[in-house]
Amino acid sequence: MFNYSHPLYRPPAEADNVIIQATYGCSYNNCSFCSMYKTKKYQLRDIKEIFKEIDILADYYPHANKIFLADGDALSLDTEYLTNLLQYLKQSFPRLKRVSLYASAQNILKKSEKDLKQLYENNLTLIYYGIETGSNTVLKKITKGVDSREIIESLNKVSKIGMKISATVILGIGGEKYTKEHIEDTAKIINATTVNYLSTLQLGLEEDAKDNFLKYFNDFILLDDYHILEEQRRFLELLNPSNKIIFRSNHASNALHLAGTLPKDKARLINELSLALNTGESAFVPNVLRGF
Ligand code: SF4
Repeated sequence: MFNYSHPLYRPPAEADNVIIQATYGCSYNNCSFCSMYKTKKYQLRDIKEIFKEIDILADYYPHANKIFLADGDALSLDTEYLTNLLQYLKQSFPRLKRVSLYASAQNILKKSEKDLKQLYENNLTLIYYGIETGSNTVLKKITKGVDSREIIESLNKVSKIGMKISATVILGIGGEKYTKEHIEDTAKIINATTVNYLSTLQLGLEEDAKDNFLKYFNDFILLDDYHILEEQRRFLELLNPSNKIIFRSNHASNALHLAGTLPKDKARLINELSLALNTGESAFVPNVLRGF
């Protein structure tokens, strides 16, 4: 059996699925709040090595129908390389229905529509995408490397060819000073695109990311749970999606767990938030049960 290169991250929704490391690390690796791949150098892999691992996994999980391609942004791979990999997966896992990966605005915008279609036709039907914020001020301060226009353009580019999008937004990432701008501009992104799944996480900085984060965001003031949930409520109030969105706020970091479908459940979710805010801390998930 082969060994994965650790640390290995995957979206919670992929917990039961086969994971293949198509790359090591993240091709950008520069977002100031993120320490996921700081111990790893971005590296392309020999495709023959990956094929050998696929052969082993196909023996173990012959009925697998969903596969996640790690690490940080496997869409950074060249289209022909990725197509070969997708085709090998299809022949190795006869029941395969869906392949997914993390993608960024940068690597979506680098691909042509033809490239994306080719990948989609070879089963790459879902991308995981960190929007984090729609505020250009905050995007700069977290050194995300893109602006809100590029985020909208990239999301619409993948939706147009039929790929599904699972997006995340980070509550609290604008701190106290930019909370209004963060929430209003992030809602504008959701309203201007057609994401299919939307999760809101709560900012939680690892010890080793704090100094770097504050170096670029020197006027950052951390919001407490109460103000984070106010952000959450305002965000939901401003959402008017043109499509159905499966909404979740049930990450280990969240002070209140919420789940519903937008726009159908918008009023109910806002009521749940108002109730928790009126009750105060005793209605929040206790810190001891939360991880970041
Ligand atoms: S947030 Fe995503 S794109 Fe940014 S450094 Fe981390 S893994 Fe890379």
